[in-house]
Amino acid sequence: MLIDTHCHVQFHSYKNDMDEVIKRTLEKSVFMITVGTQSDTSRTGLEIAERYDGVWATIGLHPYHLHEQEFGDENETIHTRTEKFNPELFKKLAQHPKCVAIGEFGLDYFHMPPNVSRDEVIREQKETVRAQFDLASEMNLPVIIHCRDAYEDQLAIVEEYVRDGKLARRGVVHCFVGTQEIADRFFELGFYISFTGILTFPPRKKEIGEDGLSSLQRIAKNLPLERLLVETDAPYLTPVPHRGERNEPWMVEFVAEKIAGLKQIEVEEVSRVTTENAKKLFNI
Ligand SMILES: [Zn+2]
Ligand SMILES: [Zn+2]
Repeated sequence: MLIDTHCHVQFHSYKNDMDEVIKRTLEKSVFMITVGTQSDTSRTGLEIAERYDGVWATIGLHPYHLHEQEFGDENETIHTRTEKFNPELFKKLAQHPKCVAIGEFGLDYFHMPPNVSRDEVIREQKETVRAQFDLASEMNLPVIIHCRDAYEDQLAIVEEYVRDGKLARRGVVHCFVGTQEIADRFFELGFYISFTGILTFPPRKKEIGEDGLSSLQRIAKNLPLERLLVETDAPYLTPVPHRGERNEPWMVEFVAEKIAGLKQIEVEEVSRVTTENAKKLFNI
């Protein structure tokens, strides 16, 4: 059994067959947490979770939705709709019995919207992170952090909250693509690290080491299993050997298999320990 700790089954990619995807996943003994990215996807995620045992949801406002922007993903063109964080609305959603975390949200300096100054974008992203850290602290829920090209700034805010005795339930850094040092610093703060299908991608020539691994694979190999989670981030980041297809939550098995291969342990152990980790963190 496995838990896909981060997918988006409420997204457009599944509009014609979402229930089949969920059933297919549950039949393979894979549970899932479907993650909200703004108020509407947070609400629909909760509605789906209500209907299934083995499905939970989270609520949050992703940095992509703070400003209007358009960028290409491997599966579709993403056109974001803007939203300002509304604390009352999200607090209400957070009280739902199947809401297991606040997220995903965080700092993302990779996708910068045009026509807005970089300083202004960063200021707004940081403000929105703080608002959701406050909500998680108040509701005593863990957080799901999305972070890209901004780990230092993200760590600074996490350190400040932890020092102030907040974020008691801590959380997870999802879709980790940082360095060993960044991972260690999140561990020291009591956070989990989560890997997606990126871990299964063949290393690019320039990053391949003497051991034949990518730097991310080497980090996954070295990190303690007791602090790792597995996820798909479906519909994005489809793992090998299904590249080119739409990602589905059951494909988290390929991420678990990859970790087992890197650590040279049985996949059953990866499944058992990461499932325990997810149950503990999300209290499910
Ligand atoms: Zn993300
Ligand atoms: Zn996501």
